[in-house]
Amino acid sequence: MGPPGAGKGTQGARLAEAMGIPKFATGDLLRDAVQRGTALGLQAKAVMEAGHLVSDDLILGVVREELAKPEASQGVIFDGVVRTIPQAEGVERLLAERGRRMDAVLFFDVSDKEILARLEQRRVLEHRADDDPAAVATRLQAYREQTAPVLAWYEARGGVRRVPAAGSLDDIAERVRRALDR
Ligand code: AMP
Repeated sequence: MGPPGAGKGTQGARLAEAMGIPKFATGDLLRDAVQRGTALGLQAKAVMEAGHLVSDDLILGVVREELAKPEASQGVIFDGVVRTIPQAEGVERLLAERGRRMDAVLFFDVSDKEILARLEQRRVLEHRADDDPAAVATRLQAYREQTAPVLAWYEARGGVRRVPAAGSLDDIAERVRRALDR
């Protein structure tokens, strides 16, 4: 977990490779659906481009599908999900149905100033519609209002491991490794 631009995608990919398990990023999955023009993509497109969160039902539907895949049998790294308390409750239920649980929750902690600089850089490089300044403001607001409270939810259920997320990619990867006691 962490605000947009905190490095969840980058570090999640490194961790997935190191652990030999898949990374499941709802944002990547939704962007792919938008590009392919699927029913899911059509439902999500406008909401995503404006920087709002897509509905919990939609997200929990894709989480359910993802967890049912054989590739997920040895574990999954979630990136960008969970983002609301109903999602936290829903994911816990979906995992329990499969006799699984969330082993660890990592929080990528980074200042607003650093985030704004990173997202501006990404906008230039990746042309993501939701990295434009108006959508970024909406995404940060969604993060503060809907996602930040989820940290307390997990804190009350076993803890959140904080990863200071400024610095070099290697340094942050090392902090992730330590946070997971690996
Ligand atoms: P991300 O790449 O994780 O920043 O996600 C890009 C966009 O996809 C977000 O701004 C949301 O519109 C949507 N999205 C991704 N994951 C979720 C989620 N778990 N809940 C709601 N919306 C999401």
